[in-house]
Amino acid sequence: MLFFVIILSAMRKAYNFRLYPNKVQRETLDSIFSFCQFFYNCALEERILYYKTFGKGIGYNKQSSYLPEIKKLFPQETANINGQVLQQILKHLDKAYKNFFRRIKKGMKEPGFPRFKSKDRFRSICFPQVNHDLSSSQGKGGIIRRANNKLYVSGLPGELKVKWHRPLQGRVKQALIIKKGEQYYVSFACEDVATKLLPQTNKSVGIDLGLKAFITMDDGTTFHHPKPYKTAKEKLALLNQKLARKQKGSKNRRRAKNQLTRAHQKIANIRDDWQHKTANHLIKEFDDIVVEDLNIKNMMSKEEKKKKQAVAKAAGTFHIEVKNENISDAAWGNFVAKLTYKAESAGRNIIQVDPRNTSKMCCNCSNIKRGLALSERTYHCDACGINIDRDLNAAINIRGRGGLETTSILQRHGIGLATSLTDVSEANKLLLTIHNMDTDERNIMMIEPAVNLAF
Ligand SMILES: [Zn+2]
Repeated sequence: MLFFVIILSAMRKAYNFRLYPNKVQRETLDSIFSFCQFFYNCALEERILYYKTFGKGIGYNKQSSYLPEIKKLFPQETANINGQVLQQILKHLDKAYKNFFRRIKKGMKEPGFPRFKSKDRFRSICFPQVNHDLSSSQGKGGIIRRANNKLYVSGLPGELKVKWHRPLQGRVKQALIIKKGEQYYVSFACEDVATKLLPQTNKSVGIDLGLKAFITMDDGTTFHHPKPYKTAKEKLALLNQKLARKQKGSKNRRRAKNQLTRAHQKIANIRDDWQHKTANHLIKEFDDIVVEDLNIKNMMSKEEKKKKQAVAKAAGTFHIEVKNENISDAAWGNFVAKLTYKAESAGRNIIQVDPRNTSKMCCNCSNIKRGLALSERTYHCDACGINIDRDLNAAINIRGRGGLETTSILQRHGIGLATSLTDVSEANKLLLTIHNMDTDERNIMMIEPAVNLAF
């Protein structure tokens, strides 16, 4: 018997919008964040103490049962805080604990005990049950979008100005108010966002994610991650200096820190925007996109990193180089995440492949080079003699691993079937490799230059 299963594709998506609180709203928000941070730390402290005293843990249910008491203890501080927001903090802590125990069970060396949070680390509060269309029909949930497009947030005086730069889709499940530096955002987690399928292009691509070019496509096109402008770098250095001169705990230090956060945020926004645009471009252009599996790539590069770090340490550039590498790891991860969710909603395929040896392997004859220093920008194959840009070679290999044909790609680069000619000058003879891509057979022939090569 046959069963036909129809899968309705619907997605989850988060929509972020900038908030523009006025002075009073900002002060209220700050005091809400401040109490929530304090509350989180107290709840963590309680868990630790409870365990030390009674030899057993205290769970979410017990902790949340004290909420009415806490509200009585801190009537002023909690007056503007939605009860569900406090519950959510306890749930969040509960989850952090569960994750911690899960990691211990797995035998991880650094299971990461839940940490106390400083002001800078406490970044969001959660409204878990907003109405799916943000209306006030049931009058609950704590967040309502008014007819004038302003946002009512439970506990805040008046209504908040929002920059709705894109339409909300699907059903809103929950809302977060996020603090980044001195800026506020609202993030709506939506479900059942309809997928919008893009028309097929019958085109596919393999891409290499690298350090020199952020992306190299198998047709040789490269995309460079925007680098912070020189002026931005100078500004960062200046702000860093300024911060270092301020006294710890002083108001001026706080101000300098905020300035620095804003400057970093600005650069991060430029990069994020660039990644969105580049991912959109790829998704629009190609049905199938093959990328490296970053889990393996990062794992692999750990070894290399260790070696390079030792060199950098000796050269005195350790701090800068390690920082740069971590940034590129994060950037690749962010980019592939964007690509993946955009692909999902557009009906495109992202194929992740094992990146091992994609740089060292020859895209023409599959010969694997023993050593390939990072500084070698051109891949030269000793077996078949081709010379090709290092990242392009990797991109073609990645494409091949994704199960896509590479013959036409190789031909486009003048490498295809039986085109590798190498001048073996001492012998004044040509070494010709005929590589049948269909059967993977390779024939290497020595021929006299006089022979007419008709392909
Ligand atoms: Zn080769």
